[in-house]
Amino acid sequence: MELVHQLMERLKARYGHEPEFLQAVYEVAKDVLPYEQAKPEYRDARIFERLTEPDRAIAFRVVWVDDQGKVQINRGYRVQMSNALGPYKGGLRFHPSVNLGMIKFLAFEQIFKNSLTGLALGAGKGGADFNPHGRSDSEIMRFCQAFMLELYRHIGRYIDVPAGDIGVGSKEVGYMYGMLVKLRGHEPGAFTGKILEHGGSLLRPEATGYGCVYFAQEMLARQNDSIEGKTAVISGAGNVAQHAAEKLIQMGAKVLTLSDSTGMVHIPQGLTEEQLAFVKALKQRRGTSLKSFAEEYKLNFYPKERPWKVPAELAFPCATQNELDLEDAKTLIKNGCRLVAEGANMPCTPEAVEAFEEAGVLFGPGKAANAGGVAVSGIEMQQNASRVSWTKEEVDYRLRTIMRHIHEQCVAYGEEKNGKINYMKGANIAGYERVARAILAYGIL
Ligand code: NDP
Repeated sequence: MELVHQLMERLKARYGHEPEFLQAVYEVAKDVLPYEQAKPEYRDARIFERLTEPDRAIAFRVVWVDDQGKVQINRGYRVQMSNALGPYKGGLRFHPSVNLGMIKFLAFEQIFKNSLTGLALGAGKGGADFNPHGRSDSEIMRFCQAFMLELYRHIGRYIDVPAGDIGVGSKEVGYMYGMLVKLRGHEPGAFTGKILEHGGSLLRPEATGYGCVYFAQEMLARQNDSIEGKTAVISGAGNVAQHAAEKLIQMGAKVLTLSDSTGMVHIPQGLTEEQLAFVKALKQRRGTSLKSFAEEYKLNFYPKERPWKVPAELAFPCATQNELDLEDAKTLIKNGCRLVAEGANMPCTPEAVEAFEEAGVLFGPGKAANAGGVAVSGIEMQQNASRVSWTKEEVDYRLRTIMRHIHEQCVAYGEEKNGKINYMKGANIAGYERVARAILAYGIL
């Protein structure tokens, strides 16, 4: 652990103002650095430490005009973390909290996640401190176009391929991709998360949520158990949460909660398909609150609360980073929670993760459990390259196969002496191993 401490001290001196980035590096370093020590060729090439420095971090001004005719100024970012395995790949986040450190944390996580998929995908992430809440469609369009006027210089199908994330769905991708087409002509492989008419893939919107539930299914299957009949709590009400809920309902689980930035709704009878359709329609407009959903169906809404107090066997944090802390973890454990699968990126604090591991709760870290989104983005790129469109069944089969493969790798690298699987350790080391081989073979660059 001395090595980990020394590395973290060096990074803190340089990036002390980037807490999420330091947290993400620490969570990987504690597993990977001891592993790297036992591999002289990786250790001497300082592969892990090299991965903590992005290839490049681009920051730029985005200027646009709001509906009142006022000039607005935002900051845009693209962090190109590592292209050892393929073009930089990762989503764009539009949220007022976005800063360089946050994008670096997400880009760093993406290295291991993309590696785990087994596809030729490097790692990147981007976004802007733009708040879409309360903005009209034309404001969102103008912002996306202005953002793209700079980003287009840095992307391309063999260079860097962005997609969506918080605040960026198919509508925003459409506006950005439209600007790329205007500037450079059609290049469907340069952006994923597109609508079908622009060369998108069936099941891309569903992929992260579905993939997360497939991963949970694999974890339970290893214990001769299944999802059917289980109770589940979900946080978030966006893309990932909606589709995790949809797959859980299809598999016979009872979804007891959803949440958003305004609060949490409790659904004691279990979310129905009709109710989910209402939430999907509601959340197409950014800035709407689940309160109106609760009112429509006479459910209890708890302003500013998170779902973790509601007893359930399965928990799926699908909203944002650090939304489940040690106290929440203790409450879930006390109430009999058996499995936590992270749909969001780093939603559980390190203390919460430790508590789950100590209590023997099956814990699927985001870089493994939510890799279905980027996996189907990779599948979208494959379809674009060969100008074909695969059926829903074909994409779903490939998604399931990739999630099973990720689970197998976590088991292979994460099995402890007592036979238990440390999925975090397994995902970190398996993800690292593939990237390390690629980097070593390039020589010192
Ligand atoms: P969306 O914008 O579609 O949904 C985000 C949801 O989280 C919304 O319900 C939003 O509330 C809520 N939320 C956002 N910030 C906060 C906050 N600070 N506190 C409480 N609630 C919050 O994003 P996605 O569903 O796409 O992304 C969710 C998570 O999944 C993120 O961590 C993302 O990085 C991760 N992820 C997404 C992938 C994808 O394919 N989209 C792939 C892999 C990971 P409100 O509705 O009020 O805005």
